[in-house]
Formats: sequence, structure tokens, C-alpha cells
Amino acid sequence: MAGCVFCEIIAGVTPASVVYRDDLVIAFMDIRPLVEGHLLVVPNQHISGLADIPPSVGAGMFSIGQRMASALRHSGLPCAGINFFLADGEAAGQTVFHAHLHVIPRHPGDGFGLRFPPRYGHRQAQDALEHQAEKIREALSRPPAQ
Ligand code: AMP
Ligand code: ZN
Repeated sequence: MAGCVFCEIIAGVTPASVVYRDDLVIAFMDIRPLVEGHLLVVPNQHISGLADIPPSVGAGMFSIGQRMASALRHSGLPCAGINFFLADGEAAGQTVFHAHLHVIPRHPGDGFGLRFPPRYGHRQAQDALEHQAEKIREALSRPPAQ
């Protein structure tokens, strides 16, 4: 798609350090890595959000993410663990609107982490959890929104 930096990388117009590609996805180094070795797994097709990813493409993104994780663990780069991260929508931190899976190698002291809300850690009452679960079950029982 015109103006999409990831489409430009896929088309070979914008340079990237590509580590893998196949018919469904490409994986390349994130230009502003959170930690050394930070990779992105990106569908070749321009798909902006999570809801638009066909199941076969999603499965490909996840399985190639697994292969990238394994490669990172065996690469000699610092990697004692892995985080997968996918931001869907601006509120979730998505800045490039071509869906992608972050594969982030982790090691103690890497300086990266998630910031938790102040109330995190309090166990929520079962009736509150049930109330939320009921809303989600109700949404699941409706046909998926197009
Ligand atoms: P997100 O905020 O989840 O949408 O992540 C977008 C990611 O794309 C960020 O981590 C950026 O550093 C990365 N990014 C943006 N432009 C490029 C580029 N030209 N090559 C590689 N990574 C990029
Ligand atoms: Zn694109």
C-alpha cells in the first residue's frame, strides 16, 4: 500500500535487515530496537489490524515468530527469554498500521519492561470477573463484526 513503510520494505524499496521470508511473511530487524535482536514478523499482504488477519496468515506469523524466537536463543545475542508483542490500534501503541508481531529477546537487566497500573496485584472479586466474562461470552455468541 502506498505510504506504508512495511509494504516498501516488502517491495524492496526501503532497506531493512531481513532475516527470513516466505510466501506469507517477512521478518526483519526493528529499526528502533527495544533491545538488541528485536525483530518484527510482518505479513507480506498489507493488513492493517488484528481483526483483518486471515487465520492462515496469523498461524504463519505465530509459527515464524516461534522460529525467530528459537533462532534468537541460538544466535549468540543476549537472549534468556522472549516476549511476543502485538499492538492492535493506536490505544494499544500501534504506530505502523501494517500488522506485525514483535519478537523481543529478553535478558536480566535489559532495561525493558511493562509498566503496570497502580492497582495491579489486587485480586479482583469473582463476581466482577464473572460480570466481565459474561459480557465477553455475550459478544462471542454474536456473529463476528465485519
Ligand atoms: P508498533 O508501535 O507496534 O506499531 O511498532 C512499529 C515498529 O516498527 C516500531 O518498533 C518501529 O521501530 C518499527 N519500524 C518503523 N519503521 C521501521 C523501518 N523502516 N524498519 C524497521 N522497523 C521499523
Ligand atoms: Zn503495508
